[in-house]
Amino acid sequence: MLDLLQVAQDYYSNGYMGGTGFSSGGSLLLMGAIAIIGYIVQARLQSVFAKYSQVYFPSGLTGAEVAEKMLRENNVHNVRVTHVRGQLTDHFNPANMTVNLSDSVYSSRSIAAAAVACHECGHAIQHAQGYAPLVMRSALVPVVNFASRAATWVIIAGIAIMASTNSTTVCWIGIGLIAMSALFSIVTLPVEYNASQRALEWLQSSRTLQGAELSYARESLKWAARTYLVAALSAIATVIYYISLISRRNN
Ligand SMILES: [Zn+2]
Repeated sequence: MLDLLQVAQDYYSNGYMGGTGFSSGGSLLLMGAIAIIGYIVQARLQSVFAKYSQVYFPSGLTGAEVAEKMLRENNVHNVRVTHVRGQLTDHFNPANMTVNLSDSVYSSRSIAAAAVACHECGHAIQHAQGYAPLVMRSALVPVVNFASRAATWVIIAGIAIMASTNSTTVCWIGIGLIAMSALFSIVTLPVEYNASQRALEWLQSSRTLQGAELSYARESLKWAARTYLVAALSAIATVIYYISLISRRNN
């Protein structure tokens, strides 16, 4: 995406685009502001997780044990809980029906580990129940993979065509492809918020975490969700930026 941005910026700064459209400088500023907010949210998430990875809860279950219990109590019996290498690599894989928990979650007895483990189980339960935003998100995966691969080339071709023929049609098709990524990151939001909500509801109803412990888990998941929110805002700002570049040309 950055290379693509460079192409458009070079084009813009070389003075090929005249006229007065709505401000692309303004949308660059917006993207910059979102990048700074993203940095702050990421730093806060890491510090919150580091803190609650050191706080243990009375029942003393590991992340893997909490995950297995939550799946069982939600009548999900066809999902295995497995260990995956790395940090923050936790995910639910519907292809082989596994909840994959990372080094710092799988065997940890911390509140942060329980929160992450239950969030991933939340995705497994969404899958089992055919939760609509998850179904839509899965359907978008191949479309977005294709669109993001094609977008760079379509935009480059579009800029070349625009320079020689004044036609912006191919540029708009390129922007449409970039917009698919933004749509994907928007559909991701209800999926992520709902998984965290399921996690917290179960942690409370099963009395796995109570009182302050539950609020620590809530705080951890809240910051994780905010990283998805920032990603979606950033994707939307990128689309606005490209629209502002091309619409200047139209005027
Ligand atoms: Zn998630």
